[in-house]
Formats: sequence, C-alpha cells, structure tokens
Amino acid sequence: MVTIPDRQPFIQTIKPLWYEGRVAELSMLRLDVIHPEISGNKWYKLKQNILYCLANNISTIITFGGAYSNHLAATAACAKYFGLTSVGIVKGKYAEHKRTHTLQQCEQHGMQLVFVSNEDYSRRNDPDWIASLSKQYKRAFIIPEGGANEQGRAGSGEITRYITDKYSHIAVSVGTGTTYTGIANLLERDKVLYGYAPMKGGEYLNEAIRGKVTNKISHHIYASDAHGGFGKWSDELVYFMNDFYLHNNIPLDIIYMAKMMYTVKQQLLQGVFPYSAKVLCIHTGGLQGNRTVANKLVY
Ligand SMILES: *Cc1c(COP(=O)(O)O)cnc(C)c1O
Repeated sequence: MVTIPDRQPFIQTIKPLWYEGRVAELSMLRLDVIHPEISGNKWYKLKQNILYCLANNISTIITFGGAYSNHLAATAACAKYFGLTSVGIVKGKYAEHKRTHTLQQCEQHGMQLVFVSNEDYSRRNDPDWIASLSKQYKRAFIIPEGGANEQGRAGSGEITRYITDKYSHIAVSVGTGTTYTGIANLLERDKVLYGYAPMKGGEYLNEAIRGKVTNKISHHIYASDAHGGFGKWSDELVYFMNDFYLHNNIPLDIIYMAKMMYTVKQQLLQGVFPYSAKVLCIHTGGLQGNRTVANKLVY
C-alpha cells in the first residue's frame, strides 16, 4: 500500500458573509493539508502512476511542465520519497538561466531538468518523440504533462471517498481536467459537478473532456478567467484571498483556488446554485505557487 505521511484530508465549513442565505451549506474539502510538497490533487494524480512503476520494476519517471508547474514539483518530491529517479522536461530554454523557485525545488529533490524550446515542448504528446525519450533512459515511465493519463484519472477518482452523502454540488478547479474527469466518473449520480478553469475562455475544456467523462452525471466547466489571464492576478484577487483567509483560516493559491472561489462567490450572488444546495469546494492545493505574491499575503 502506497501512503504518504502527514495529514488526512478533512471537510471544513466555510462561513464568509457573502454566502449567508444563498445556499444551505458551503464547505471545503481540504486536500491541501495532506503533505507540504506532494499536496492537493497532485498526490492523487501521481499515486497510481507510482504504484505502476513500483509493480513493473520501473526506476525512472519522466514528465513535462513549465517553470511554475506544481506537477513537476510534486513529481520530483514523490519520486524521491519512493526511491525513483525523476527527469523533468521543462518548457522554454530561457528557464535554464532563470531558475524559478519551483525548478530549484525540483532539483533539490534530485530531479534532472532538461530544458527544451517551446517548439520542441509542443511535441510533448507526439508518440515518436516519446519513444525516443524512453530509449534514452533505462526502465523509464513517461507521465504526460499534468499527470493527464489513465492512472492520473483513476487516482483522482479516489478523492470521491472523501465526499460525504449530504453534498449536492461539488466544485473543483481545472487545468488539464484530469482531476475533474477522475472525480466525474466515480461521483454518485445525484450530485452535480462544476469545474473552474482559469485559462482564457476556459469553457473550451468542456469539449476536451467530453469523451472522457463516461458517468451520466450533470456536470459543467466554467471559466474562472477574470483578473488578467492564466497566472495573472489583480489587487482585487489578492484582497479576496486575504479576506478569505482571515474569515476561514484557509490559504488559497493564486493560480487556481482563489479564482475558483472568486467565481463561486459571483455565482452565489447571481443565484446559479439553488437555495437548497449543499456545496463542497475541493481545495486542490497549489500553495507553493504563491511564492510570487508572498509579500502581499497575510499568510
Ligand atoms: C494542478 C492544479 C490543478 C489542475 O488539475 P488538473 O487535474 O490538471 O485539472 C487544479 N488546482 C490546483 C491547485 C493545481 O495545483
């Protein structure tokens, strides 16, 4: 059995003033607490991949990401924990000479970084390139960007174990849609799943995941793309994060969770959820990405 140490996820009721009377309950599933580095959804996406490697005598994991990728950082920490070697293919040659905190963390965990041009990186799902990469490393397993494979979806499905019966609406943030799809396929049919994608016009992801959600549940991905685009933020968003923390003692990350909760707030005010809804927001972690705004946050 693969386990990581630290804490079990738990559900916390959230009580910001803006939801009073709009829905019956608003809570958060705290996946961010499970581990300081292999946190949130990243652990669930990696878990089945690690099991696969251990069962098949694979010693090296190769994966892909940008200079701010939470997935790269989590993979490096996870590989080290389970005694595997890791290689990170990083988008952008420039990143080599300007190591971000995320990349430094990867290297501290022994990940070998290979910097490639944006053009080469765009071939990351090209079977020829993947085959040639596998040949360069002995007994290697390649995990796609964001852990977006069968094992990633299966592991994400395990998150549904923590979703108790009473909740009617589940909210989760979306990048590749791996976590969303994994949850969707194992969710009880009487529940509604909403995704929140911070990419510009993020609703396009509904098309991308269509064939992958096989469970007949009601679900939809909304764009949570205000505040200037992916990775960008506004003072208003930072204010929201600080306010949310002061009311609930829950830190949100600036890339995914803050934008999801900001959008959920707008939806509550607009009446998107029925008054009887019991809403469970899944905290997918990502807090290591707050380094860039650390001096503006009260946490
Ligand atoms: C990586 C990440 C996501 C995106 O998960 P996908 O499975 O790629 O959709 C969402 N939220 C946080 C906090 C993340 O770090």
